[in-house]
Amino acid sequence: MPQTDVSSNETLDPTHSDAPPSTCVCPVPWARLVAHVEDEVLPARPAATPGPAAALYYAQCATCGARYPGAWRVDHATRRAS
Ligand SMILES: [Zn+2]
Repeated sequence: MPQTDVSSNETLDPTHSDAPPSTCVCPVPWARLVAHVEDEVLPARPAATPGPAAALYYAQCATCGARYPGAWRVDHATRRAS
C-alpha cells in the first residue's frame, strides 16, 4: 500500500482539518443549520431577528461546522417532523 501525503491532503480539503472553517465552504452555503443547545443538536434556520436561543448559543453549518454569522432561530417545525 503506497504512503499518502497527509500534509498536502489537508491543504486540499480544509473541511477535514481540526478547526471548522471561518465561513461555510459547502456548495450551497448554509443549506442546513444546527444549533448545539446543552446536550441537544437542534435544527436551526436563518431568521430576520435572532431567537431566544441565539443569545446563549450559536448555530453552525450541519455539514462543514462553520459558525453561522447571521440571525437564526431554532426550527421547531422541522424538529417536530423529524
Ligand atoms: Zn457548510
